[in-house]
Amino acid sequence: MAVDPARLARFVESAPRYTSYPPATEFHAGFGEREARAQLAATANGPISLYVHVPFCVSLCWYCGCNVVATSRRERGSAYVDVLAKELELLAAAGGGRPVVELALGGGSPNFLAVSDLEKLFAAVRRTLGLAGDAEVSVELDPRDTREEQLAALVSLGLTRMSVGIQDFDPDVQAAIHRMQSAEQTRGLVDSARRLGVERINADLVYGLPRQTPDTLAHTLDEVIALAPRRVALFGYAHLPSLRPHQRLVERAGPLPDAGGRAELFALAVERLTGAGYQMIGIDHFARPEDELAIAARDGTLHRNFQGYVVRRAEVLLGCGATAISDTGGAYWQNDGDLAGWQRRIEAGELPVARGVALGGEDRLRRQVITRLMCDGEVDFHEIEERWRIEFDDHFAPELARLAGDDFTELVEIDRERRRIAALPTGRFMLRNLARVFDGYQKSAGQRRFSLSL
Ligand code: SF4
Repeated sequence: MAVDPARLARFVESAPRYTSYPPATEFHAGFGEREARAQLAATANGPISLYVHVPFCVSLCWYCGCNVVATSRRERGSAYVDVLAKELELLAAAGGGRPVVELALGGGSPNFLAVSDLEKLFAAVRRTLGLAGDAEVSVELDPRDTREEQLAALVSLGLTRMSVGIQDFDPDVQAAIHRMQSAEQTRGLVDSARRLGVERINADLVYGLPRQTPDTLAHTLDEVIALAPRRVALFGYAHLPSLRPHQRLVERAGPLPDAGGRAELFALAVERLTGAGYQMIGIDHFARPEDELAIAARDGTLHRNFQGYVVRRAEVLLGCGATAISDTGGAYWQNDGDLAGWQRRIEAGELPVARGVALGGEDRLRRQVITRLMCDGEVDFHEIEERWRIEFDDHFAPELARLAGDDFTELVEIDRERRRIAALPTGRFMLRNLARVFDGYQKSAGQRRFSLSL
C-alpha cells in the first residue's frame, strides 16, 4: 500500500481517538454510582465483555499514557486482586450473573501478578459473573517481566490471545523512553507462548518517539514481521505532558518528530506491514487476512472500544479495577483512579464510579456514524436513516457542507447518488479528522488537548 507522507502531514491535527463517543473528556462527576446501578439493572444477565485493569508495573516507561503505579512490591498485586474479587461480587449483585464471553486483562502489566493471584482472579470471575467455556481470554504481557510459569498458568486458565508490548527494538529509542527490551526477550516470550499452544499473538508498536528514524523503525518492523504475530497495533505516540507529567522525561532525549516526521514513519510502517501480507484495519491496526479482526473489517462488523478495534462479542463491556471504563450502550462510566479511594468505596459496598456520561438519542445516532467511519471509512445514509428515523441529508446538513469544503477535498467523497460518504485513499488514514466533523461536543471542547490524528 503506497502512502504519500507529505500529503498526510498536511492533515495532522489534534483530535479524539474515538474509542468512545462521546469522548472520555465529556465524562462528568454528575454520573455516579446510582446511574451505573440503573444501567447494570437495565442490561442484567446478558453476556458481557469484561476488562480487568491491573495498574502495576515494575518500572515506569517515560512515554507511558496508561494509568500506572510503578512499584517493585509484588504483594500489592495480591492485595489488589482481593479487592477486585469484591468488585466483581458487587457487579454480579447489581447486574446478575452474566456469562463473560470475552475477558481482557490489561494495564499496567497483568504479568505483575503472581501465579496464585492470577488463579485467584480467574476463580473470582467464574464464581461471580461466570466465564463461558469458549470465551476469548486475552492478556497484555511485558516480555521483560513475564515468567514461563505465569504463561503456563494463564494457558491453563484459558488464555487464547496474548498482546506483547514491543514499541521499538532500537536501543537508542528504548533508552529515550526508558524501556530496555531485547529482541531475544520478546522472541523468548513469543516462542514460549507458541510452545504452549497460543497462536493468537498481537504485537504493539509506537511511532513518533524521539530518536526514531525510518531506518530504526524499518529494523524494528523487520524483527516484528519475523515474529509473525497475527495482529500488529501501531500507535502514534501521544505526547501530552500536561496530563502525564512524567512524559517530560521523554523530551530529554531530543526533539520529537514533527508532523512530517510522524507521517514518514507511519507511511513506512504501513508500506512494510501491508507488503508483508497484513491487512490494514482502521487507522492503526493490522491483521493477517485470516484473523477474525480482518474478517470483521471485510464484513463491515468491526467495532471500536477502549481497547481499539475489536470483534464485538457482547453489547455490554464492564470494566473492573481502578480507572477501568464500562460501556452498557446507554452510558459510559469510569472507576475511581485513586487506588486508595477505589478500594475504600468497594470495601464500603459501593461501586467505585468516579464519572461517566449517559447517552441521549442524538449521542447514540452520532456514535453510530462515528463508529462506522472509524471502522469502515464510510457511512451508508440508508443504514442510519432506517435505524434512527431521520433524513440524513437534513439532519447532517452542516456536517455534509463542511465535508464538501476545500479542507476535505482530498479526504472524503460524498456520493449523493449512492447516498453515502466514503473516505478517499488519504482520508483512510485520517479517519479521526472525518469523525470529528460529526462530533457534537467539539464546538464546546474549547482548549481541551487530544493527541495528534497521525
Ligand atoms: S509497561 Fe506499559 S503500562 Fe507499564 S509503564 Fe510501560 S508502557 Fe506503561
